Amino acid sequence: MKTIIEPFRIKVVEPIRMTTPEQRETALREAGLNVFNLRAEDIIVDLLTDSGTGAMSSEQWAGVMRGDESYAGARSFYRFLDRVQEITGFEHVLPTHQGRASERILFEVVGGPGKVVPNNNHFDTTRANVEHSGAKAVDLVVDVGKDPRSLDPFKGNLDVAKLESCFKEVGAENIPLVMVTVTNNSGGGQPVSLQNIRELRKVCDRYKTPLFLDACRFAENAYFIKQRELGQGERSVAEIVREMFDLADGATISAKKDGLVNIGGLLLLRDSELTTQARNLLILTEGFPTYGGLAGRDLEAIAQGLEEVLHEDYLTYRIRSTEYLGEKLREVGVQIVEPPGGHAIYVDAKAFCPHIPPAEFPGQAVVCAMYRRGGIRACEIGSVMFGADEPPSMELVRLAIPRRTYTQSHIDYVIEVLAGVHAERESLSGLRIVEEPPALRHFTARFEEIRGGN
Ligand SMILES: *Cc1c(COP(=O)(O)O)cnc(C)c1O
Repeated sequence: MKTIIEPFRIKVVEPIRMTTPEQRETALREAGLNVFNLRAEDIIVDLLTDSGTGAMSSEQWAGVMRGDESYAGARSFYRFLDRVQEITGFEHVLPTHQGRASERILFEVVGGPGKVVPNNNHFDTTRANVEHSGAKAVDLVVDVGKDPRSLDPFKGNLDVAKLESCFKEVGAENIPLVMVTVTNNSGGGQPVSLQNIRELRKVCDRYKTPLFLDACRFAENAYFIKQRELGQGERSVAEIVREMFDLADGATISAKKDGLVNIGGLLLLRDSELTTQARNLLILTEGFPTYGGLAGRDLEAIAQGLEEVLHEDYLTYRIRSTEYLGEKLREVGVQIVEPPGGHAIYVDAKAFCPHIPPAEFPGQAVVCAMYRRGGIRACEIGSVMFGADEPPSMELVRLAIPRRTYTQSHIDYVIEVLAGVHAERESLSGLRIVEEPPALRHFTARFEEIRGGN
């Protein structure tokens, strides 16, 4: 079969307000040509992020009604605990309000000045929390992971030789843990192989250093392993997931991704001493250990989401539909980061607008044109986001796909709009910043076009 149908029926709908080009022009001008400043109501298809933007299932909503809101020892916590232990094998499970809260607690305990934390690519909140503790975050992704044209199946891998050199250079006593992000979000949503995690385990054993997963997209990563890795095709995704977690000493997770919920996080640990320290911080800043930063109903929804995300029909649809978007864009001549990742397609904006230099934000020009033409919101990942200090190596536009939210016809619409923008790309103008805050400027900066509108 060529058509991958959505493996769900729609039971509740949320209307999308259609807008005219004139309305969008006004909204975009008022937003200072920055789509972060738009009201969500003015957007037709919102691909800003896949974090917390997915739809919950009927069973998850049923769990919301069953939520036990007792302060301590709630039934919902034990259901959540059983499910997480069954899937991951971790003894100690701390609920948090979202992924970055788990990171903050972890690095407050193990980080600090003089420490170095290696990762394939730190996600931005992970890096920020490592650095907030006073430690240094280093990215050691394999070289092929930095080549947008390479079709290597595991471009998210952490380079084992670079990790060895890092241990030799800074000394194991200064490396509190090694982290590997599955899938590698900042590296284009590319997967990490099981072989790579096994090798990292061996290096960590040799240096007696814990190995942690940033496991936000653990199920998508495991599905890629099943599809692409030699000898893994016959195993269930659940088995592969379990082996990934078995190889690690701990994990931080944002449940807003593969937890299939709108809010929530987890911190998973094996070491009892570390757990005691983390739990004390949890109580101080998140909440009592049987609810963390969440309500009982949230724990129910996560417990159910973690089960549903392992359904292979769901994962086939999820990965295939992202790939479909990538294939169709390629067919209309749009250069993307290859191969398509799990949760997003990244458009190469330098190739899209060769006439706009990085200093004039080609990615932002494409983002504005997509909104103007079709009310689509995407996210610039290039000189606007990272270029305040030095220009990044790539100018990208990320189209992140919310889980179970849009149908294939929404995606076909996105393809049509982007193909139209691409056909008229020579008319796009570069931008200049007219107002920017001192840090994280992409969220609030305001822009103007360098030559007229389009
Ligand atoms: C989203 C994300 C986080 C942070 O999680 P939040 O729930 O947004 O705080 C950390 N790491 C990765 C890889 C992520 O994608």
